[in-house]
Amino acid sequence: MAKSIRRPSRPAKSTAAKRTENVAANPRRKKVAKSARAKAPKAAHKVPKPWTEAEVTEAFRRFRAANPEPKGELEHLNPYTLLVAVVLSAQATDAGVNKATRSLFAVADTPSKMLALGEDKVRDYIKTIGLYRNKAKNVIALSEKLIAEFGGEVPRTRAEIESLPGAGRKTANVVLNMAFGEHTMAVDTHVFRVGNRTGMAPGKTPLEVELNLERVIPSEFMLHAHHWLILHGRYTCLARKPRCEVCIINDLCRWPEKTV
Ligand code: SF4
Repeated sequence: MAKSIRRPSRPAKSTAAKRTENVAANPRRKKVAKSARAKAPKAAHKVPKPWTEAEVTEAFRRFRAANPEPKGELEHLNPYTLLVAVVLSAQATDAGVNKATRSLFAVADTPSKMLALGEDKVRDYIKTIGLYRNKAKNVIALSEKLIAEFGGEVPRTRAEIESLPGAGRKTANVVLNMAFGEHTMAVDTHVFRVGNRTGMAPGKTPLEVELNLERVIPSEFMLHAHHWLILHGRYTCLARKPRCEVCIINDLCRWPEKTV
């Protein structure tokens, strides 16, 4: 009968020895392990202290002192042309829109004149603006709807404005604020950046920033708050290189990377 031979049990390997062995078997492993460590999330940033009511008031006092009557930069002649200009401004600069609308509005400053001009001509006038084919369609469709449902006038409620082709929440906020003096807050890319960077009204979406700004800004500043914040973002708190050294709210700003 064959004798059974008991093999000596292997000594247990240390964790370090196992790691060395794994890496030897697959040299890519070390690299992967290293890069995984590099990509591991860093410790969460310290959440900045929320602004106090007095600080928000102080910031807007300074904006008002520097520019008591801020103006929007989209050229328009009446609520209708403002509405059209805002619809055309999606993913385009105000300067680019103004260049096209100057001659368009000279011949069509009402919904009926725009319909008389027709989609092909409207398209020609605005062809320097991005997405112009679709925008020309929307301008004609919204003009038709204004005539059919609103007596040719721009309606005064958010729901009605948002029901127009090409018009969303931001369009409604701009029109309600600039044409009808309502305390709305339109959040574009500049306002979104300023609200988040300064820590005044942080939010992951434009709607969150809008609601936070409306919550913290005192009513006495709300009529112009939208323009002050846009202008601040456009000329001072620039996306790539904010001009913190000349910023009039740099002592209040919570951005950890501010350069003052
Ligand atoms: S201090 Fe700098 S980052 Fe802060 S609001 Fe002013 S420009 Fe923007």
